Amino acid sequence: MAPSTPMIRDEVTSLPTYNAGLHPEKLRGLLGLDRIVKLDSNENPFGPSPAAIAAVRAVADGLNRYPDRDETVLRGQIAGRLGVSPDRLAFGDGSEDLIGIIYRMVMRPGECAVTTVPSFGLHKIWADVLGAHALLLPFDEGWRFPVAAIESALAKKPRVLILATPSNPVGSVLTASDVDRILAACGPETLLVFDEAYVEFVAPEAKVDVLAKLAAYRGPWIVLRTFSKAYGLAGLRLGYAIAHDADFIRNLYKVRSPFSVNAAALAAAEAAYADTAHLDHVTAEIRALRAQLRAGLALRGFAVAPSEANSLFFDTGRDGAAVAEALRRKGVLVKPWLEPSYTGFIRVSVGTRADNEAFLATLDAVTQD
Ligand SMILES: *Cc1c(COP(=O)(O)O)cnc(C)c1O
Repeated sequence: MAPSTPMIRDEVTSLPTYNAGLHPEKLRGLLGLDRIVKLDSNENPFGPSPAAIAAVRAVADGLNRYPDRDETVLRGQIAGRLGVSPDRLAFGDGSEDLIGIIYRMVMRPGECAVTTVPSFGLHKIWADVLGAHALLLPFDEGWRFPVAAIESALAKKPRVLILATPSNPVGSVLTASDVDRILAACGPETLLVFDEAYVEFVAPEAKVDVLAKLAAYRGPWIVLRTFSKAYGLAGLRLGYAIAHDADFIRNLYKVRSPFSVNAAALAAAEAAYADTAHLDHVTAEIRALRAQLRAGLALRGFAVAPSEANSLFFDTGRDGAAVAEALRRKGVLVKPWLEPSYTGFIRVSVGTRADNEAFLATLDAVTQD
């Protein structure tokens, strides 16, 4: 469709419209239901540390002041725990914001970002916005990362390789040898980005210390993390990046808008990061609920991808969007996958036990044929 404002760049007008769905409260009113089961955005159903909520309340007294644009306290906490120099960390208005900033720093029109498919939309969209493009590599058998295809792609020196581990939407993780092979194949002209939005949910026996492996790697790299998922603070918007050096971060702060991390987000994150007991409790609980939900789907004959995230990706064996729409009409929100070849799949977030049971019962109701 021709834009009403012709000056808008073609790269922008040709982007798909982001479909965030109807706000759950609006949907609840529309359907006249008591509650909506919201399993479409990989949020933490248990919420953040109570200390984070108290910290946000305390911030209310200073809302006339700009936030600390150096993120001094949180920067110190994270640097200390990870054992990296504080000047190698950057914070953003969600890690989605940081992905956009990093692409704007390094990608020129016509260049390429390599990632997997099915994929996290923004890994591709931010490249398209810049007149660059994404090369999407399908997963191998059993939803293993396509390391041989990644090695071949790296030989062509793409500007960016970006991998979410655990993957969104699949949930599978890079193994230690996958990471070793990727580091061995990657040259200095490619920025390696590991998006660890779900790292806190990984079972201890499946955990690969990507940061430790990167310590011995000579090229440029970024690891992204977020307070939106395991920390339960999606509504406040705060993500962070760890980079190979401080100069990259200095340049990143020239591109980032100066006060993009708000005071409430900072206060909440400081408290949440300190409350390791809450994080450990919540993530262990989600892992147990994930196993139960997986068993429930398997019992019904659905093929479910292996997952170390707080979501499961499964083949409905029919039109996933139609199943999701039928669920939505009964107040259960899940994410149907729309990328070609995966339109039979749905991603469902791990909710509370009651959420998961309501989802399975409703799925039974809408898939009876
Ligand atoms: C949820 C998610 C993010 C986090 O986004 P925020 O902007 O920090 O809320 C980043 N990457 C992936 C792959 C995700 O699924």
